[in-house]
Amino acid sequence: MREIKYDAIVEAVADMCQRANYDLGADVVQAFRQALRSEVSETGRDVLSQLMENAQIAARERVPMCQDTGVAVFLVEVGQDCRIVGGSLYDAINDGVRKGYREGYLRSSIVGHPLERVNTGDNAPAVTHVELVPGDKLTIHFSAKGGGSENMSALKMLKPSDGVEGVKAFVLETARNAGPNACPPMVVGVGIGGTFEKAAYLAKKSLFRPIGERSPRPEIAVLEEELVEMCNKLGIGPQGMGGRTTVLDVKIEIYPCHIASLPVAVNINCHASRHKEAVL
Ligand code: SF4
Repeated sequence: MREIKYDAIVEAVADMCQRANYDLGADVVQAFRQALRSEVSETGRDVLSQLMENAQIAARERVPMCQDTGVAVFLVEVGQDCRIVGGSLYDAINDGVRKGYREGYLRSSIVGHPLERVNTGDNAPAVTHVELVPGDKLTIHFSAKGGGSENMSALKMLKPSDGVEGVKAFVLETARNAGPNACPPMVVGVGIGGTFEKAAYLAKKSLFRPIGERSPRPEIAVLEEELVEMCNKLGIGPQGMGGRTTVLDVKIEIYPCHIASLPVAVNINCHASRHKEAVL
């Protein structure tokens, strides 16, 4: 059984929190460049250029690219042949978030009680999802998830007879409702199938996949591309100023479901699609 030290997790998490907020991923930068070439609106192109310049300043000056430095969301793949020594996985992740956000001067955006609403002051606790996988590695995927775009997400329990057309209509309706509030161009994560909570998890999980990487399932890859095209006809454009770049991508994850159900969740991400990965 391979051992992974608590402190190694803390350091890896702290580092990811800072890098994600300072260095926009290569996939997002590439998507901006591509959008700049295909955007027909002059205002849209101007906004895209400003978003790129903003990302360059953040990387150069080691400052966050957005004032909303996000809720810390983790997807951790725990190899069943490894064990964590020195403390619990959840504590290590929360300690890493505290260290990363404090030392990186990143905004604390978490309230300790959803109704009493007092800021915890250190951006902890994180939202951590764990999957048990074969092997002896610990793979940590991190996303700094903006509140504005998260708020525009939605879930619907469709009827099986609604089928793929019902799914498309719901994704489009959610993207349209998000409009400028989600700081477009957006990345749209879609979870189809499973149960109520599984669909929401799948939608979140899909956002960890890099922009431009299609689903390995051919029929789902086609649906992703079709939805990108449909969303980009909504006319919302960069920062809601009009144009054809409303989304940078649509990602879909699916799971088997009950004969009576067709759950669909849409998790919206903003243009500041910040995610990093560490393997221990
Ligand atoms: S939605 Fe994204 S870009 Fe907009 S304020 Fe929040 S983190 Fe920043």
